[in-house]
Amino acid sequence: MRCFCRDQHGHLDPNCREHDLTGNIYREEHEIEALVTAVNQHKDLIETGIAFPGDAVLSPLTEDVVSTGDKIIFTWPLPHGEGDALRRSYDDGDTLFYEATRAIYCGDQDGNKYRQGIDFLLREKRIVWQWPQKPLEGTAPATGTRYVVKYKGFIEWVAFDVPMERISHGNDIGSRVVLRKLHLVRA
Ligand SMILES: [Zn+2]
Repeated sequence: MRCFCRDQHGHLDPNCREHDLTGNIYREEHEIEALVTAVNQHKDLIETGIAFPGDAVLSPLTEDVVSTGDKIIFTWPLPHGEGDALRRSYDDGDTLFYEATRAIYCGDQDGNKYRQGIDFLLREKRIVWQWPQKPLEGTAPATGTRYVVKYKGFIEWVAFDVPMERISHGNDIGSRVVLRKLHLVRA
């Protein structure tokens, strides 16, 4: 749903802590069972311009209704291939786009590489550079330095309705919903 903080011109309140980067808020979170397939198995959706390479297609296996604007978080970690481009803040850590489980690569604009557990920790949606038991040999980018972290994590997706039933050999095998990664959907 669109966040309550939008004014009459549709602008978001920059001080609001409720909405995500797409300007949306989410309510009534629950687990659903669904079949997820890669979009390249659904050539019709790509050919009609509804879906793009990198999207996924979700078919609920239950009576749950998934509709436009819903956020779907997979219960298994996947690589966040592009990674997050960050700038080292004054804080003890910086905010990630997704909840991270394991780092794949972390390096800064000057070519320095950083190691998980020695230089940084991943804690939910944060990369932490300062913590009490940090090893003495641990380093960190200087404040203001740009760096990139690629990681495996719980990717979040935004649902797009596809208003047609999927019929196979006369059997209705459920509806399809196109999912796009949240970081590719901006307000
Ligand atoms: Zn808001």
